[in-house]
Amino acid sequence: MTQTKESERLFALAQNYLVGGVNSPVRAFKSVGSVPRFIAKAKGPYVWDADGNRYADFVGSWGPMILGHARREVLSAVQKTMARGFSFGASTELEIQLARRVCGAFPSIEKVRFVSSGTEAVMSALRLARGFTERSKVIKFAGCYHGHSDGMLVSAGSGAATLGIPDSSGVPAAFSRETIVLNFNDLDGVRSCMNAFGNEIAAIIVEPVAGNMGVVLPQLGFLEGLRDLALKNKSLLIFDEVITGFRLSYGGAQSLLGVRPDLTCLGKIIGGGFPVGAFGGRADVMNCLAPLGPVYQAGTLSGNPVAMSAGIATLDLLKKLSPYNALEKNTVYLMKRIEDGARKIGLPLRINRAGSMFTIFFAADPVTDFNSAKRSDTKRFAQFFAALLDAGMYFPPAQYEAAFLSTAHSGAFLEKAAKAITRSLSKTSQDKEPQRA
Ligand code: PLP
Repeated sequence: MTQTKESERLFALAQNYLVGGVNSPVRAFKSVGSVPRFIAKAKGPYVWDADGNRYADFVGSWGPMILGHARREVLSAVQKTMARGFSFGASTELEIQLARRVCGAFPSIEKVRFVSSGTEAVMSALRLARGFTERSKVIKFAGCYHGHSDGMLVSAGSGAATLGIPDSSGVPAAFSRETIVLNFNDLDGVRSCMNAFGNEIAAIIVEPVAGNMGVVLPQLGFLEGLRDLALKNKSLLIFDEVITGFRLSYGGAQSLLGVRPDLTCLGKIIGGGFPVGAFGGRADVMNCLAPLGPVYQAGTLSGNPVAMSAGIATLDLLKKLSPYNALEKNTVYLMKRIEDGARKIGLPLRINRAGSMFTIFFAADPVTDFNSAKRSDTKRFAQFFAALLDAGMYFPPAQYEAAFLSTAHSGAFLEKAAKAITRSLSKTSQDKEPQRA
């Protein structure tokens, strides 16, 4: 068993001051019953906890660390910027530099605004969509997570699903009524909804490849269908690419799948590990934002220079290295090894993967939406997760999350990881029939 005394001590101490000992719920490891590891440092594909244990990291700070941890070029850019001051609350050239890169990568983004988190990006994009269309309802899909703004905490995925509170307390019923929840991949559902409420729908928001009910791929025609229906109903189509932007390809899921949304939300990778979010899209829509238009949105730390320079350095490296084929190849290899391992021991599982993001579902049937994701055996996932930690593998501590590879996850590292993950699977296989959680 891994020595976790120091993490245990810190977790106990943290609970005196921080709610549940954490600043984001899933970090408490509640659904997997393990000791939350307090991280002391990270480099490349590894993180080290406060007890000095090293783990191969498949969380990657929940997505941003596509180049691995503490990448030299990003570190040096950040240090250079910091030496000139940390925050001015005024415009800097760095904001233009990052904006040019984002607009260049995403042809659908004619204008962009930076914020400090994915939550803020989505919240602001929805306000903008409502202001632009002068309508109030929004369609979202069950199991998609779009941050924790009130209207989006209806049938939400990620930590909200893991902790069994997809409909958070504290959200006024009047807000929830403005969110219509449909099933991912169910285009007929969207069609019927548009027939019933079309002229009230400001926007359809979707993770084009879902990551927050675990990875779930859009079926052929789903996103195209959303595009058509939004257009016909004069509603806006919003892609939440907070995870997939610069992850699935340099131009995100939309460039890979060939569907052009009206607005896009970004986060994670564009900050290179610093707090950055962004929303952008059609100029006529974006120009409704203050100071040009009547939709108000602002932020003291928006466009923070340190965060901007981390984003710029990260995007420049992604452009230069063009790592997407290699990332995909490495992920496919790892998934195949895991599937082979599971087959050998007769363990039913389904792996959903897009590029370098993946989820291992302990499910016998294909996972195509939130309902099928929820049929996974989460008890078995918890056993697997504990075995992974013991084997030095740090995975997202919940079934309904995506795991990530970075450019640092390659070569001999992958081979070792494949063996450790497969061994961990066998520790969950004593009970052959999956239990429903
Ligand atoms: N949208 C998606 C698709 C996400 O995955 C997340 C966070 O995981 C968010 C929005 C919210 O981003 P943040 O946690 O930066 O507020």
